[in-house]
Amino acid sequence: MIDVLAKDKDIHSFLEYDDTKKKCKNPNGPLANIPCGVKDNIAVEGFHLTCASKILENFVSPYNATAVEKLEEAGAVVVGKTNMDEFGMGSSTDFSAFGGTNNPWNKEYVTGGSSGGSAAAVAADLVPFALGSDTGGSIRQPAAFCGVYGLKPTYGAVSRYGLVAYASSLDVIGVLSKDLDLTEKVFKVIRGQDWRDQTSIAYPEEPAKPRNGKLSFTYLEGDLGLTPEIEKGYKALIQKIKDKGFEIKGVQVPSLEYVIPVYYTIATAEASANLARYNGIRYGHRSKEGETPMDLMEKSRNEGFGDEVKLRILLGTYVLRSGFQDQYYIKAQKIRTKVIDDFKKIFSTSDIFVAPAFPSQAFKHGNAGLTAYQQKVADKFTVTANLTGMPALSIPVGMENGLPVGMQLFANYCCENLLFDAAREVL
Ligand code: GLN
Repeated sequence: MIDVLAKDKDIHSFLEYDDTKKKCKNPNGPLANIPCGVKDNIAVEGFHLTCASKILENFVSPYNATAVEKLEEAGAVVVGKTNMDEFGMGSSTDFSAFGGTNNPWNKEYVTGGSSGGSAAAVAADLVPFALGSDTGGSIRQPAAFCGVYGLKPTYGAVSRYGLVAYASSLDVIGVLSKDLDLTEKVFKVIRGQDWRDQTSIAYPEEPAKPRNGKLSFTYLEGDLGLTPEIEKGYKALIQKIKDKGFEIKGVQVPSLEYVIPVYYTIATAEASANLARYNGIRYGHRSKEGETPMDLMEKSRNEGFGDEVKLRILLGTYVLRSGFQDQYYIKAQKIRTKVIDDFKKIFSTSDIFVAPAFPSQAFKHGNAGLTAYQQKVADKFTVTANLTGMPALSIPVGMENGLPVGMQLFANYCCENLLFDAAREVL
């Protein structure tokens, strides 16, 4: 037995850890007795559900998310809730209201985010796998920063009942682990249609097959603005795919130039609506100062939300204000449709699309790292899979300067099995 709490002291991957709360419910299940962490925006009965926000600091979940229910039915045991950027908004986990997480490879560096706690917990061997959520890269980018696998499934493949909403047309629950087979196994357990989430889909029983009997690849080419370490890892991966005899061709995707403004328009618009429920009245933090209902709401929200969350609510409210929807939100949705068309075309001629996970390796905490704005711009390789709803897998490809290098594989809807096959082939 490892002393998880002692080991986590200077990593801070868990916001709450208690391996006595839950018992294995199925000793014969495919995940029997496997401990796991769950991001703190996914409901686990009897554990806190804070979203790393002061506004939900004392909230304890009275029920399990469907994904957690399915894990328990398969025998897995939830041991704790993992740290994150407040409400999933960020790329470092430093935007947690309860203090950030340190990268287990080097504590001066961030884990990435927003599922940084989940990524660090598996990278530090505190749990064999963890659940995360991915709205714009929040599973894949921290997985790349911490040197683990991170699967963002097809939109709707995993029920979101019990996931606290950030941006509803983009959010998905997924898996982080050091073990590729375990990542796949967990995905198979948690996926499937759920009447409690009307956006969930009936996942096909039959695994997808490569178009021509053998996997074929496309990679993103052009000036991608990568650091030398990421550039080196990316080129090496492409070479490896070639060396193994797979068909691979380069493509430019001009619409990718617009994905950041499109993503941040749609994500903040939806977030501003979803976060309206935190009003200090139904549950969560309530200000002691309020004199009228309006005043109470205003003060509760002002005290409960962190700066980054406030910024996004403001942005979202701005792009949705009356008379301006055409200019921002609707325009963003049109470009989103174009991006979807472009990726459908890519997957009509190849099975797997290859791109970096992030333009750089993990960056340092604080001022020595990336500004909040630079972090947003750097989401350019991850947000596409959320805009299209297609699945993507972050894979660790090596180490540079003592920190992991991660790459990304994308596939068409419900072709997760091809992502796992491709990862096995190219590593
Ligand atoms: N960095 C992205 C954002 O801040 C990722 C968010 C996510 O996937 N939850 O919105």
